[in-house]
Amino acid sequence: MSKTLFERIVAREIPAQIVFEDDFVCAFRDINAQAPTHVLIVPKKPIPRIAEASPDDHKLLGHLLLKAAEVAAKLGLKENGYRLVINNGSDGGETVPHLHCHILGGRHLQWPPG
Ligand code: 5GP
Repeated sequence: MSKTLFERIVAREIPAQIVFEDDFVCAFRDINAQAPTHVLIVPKKPIPRIAEASPDDHKLLGHLLLKAAEVAAKLGLKENGYRLVINNGSDGGETVPHLHCHILGGRHLQWPPG
């Protein structure tokens, strides 16, 4: 099976500004930032989307969220806050079929989203 776009970023086949990486996840700046800080954190395992995750992925998904909070803190977002977003499927606005959590911060974000 061919690699996903985000697998290719993790493999350094496509350049990206990587801000954090460990054995299980990788975080890099979004190419089309929607906020002063906009980072994507992805599991290295190419789960297509949260709806396709299995019970076996529970540790990985917990790790992803904990690391998202760590990355947000590392990028200076802890004090003023930030938003974590996971888009799922076409109505959810998903465009890249490799699970990813957006970390958005650095400005006041509106609610509800559009
Ligand atoms: P989605 O719409 O699937 O939730 O989010 C996909 C995100 O991936 C978008 O915010 C988009 O800007 C970002 N993206 C798409 N292609 C690339 C790329 O080649 N490099 C980086 N760093 N981000 C990308």
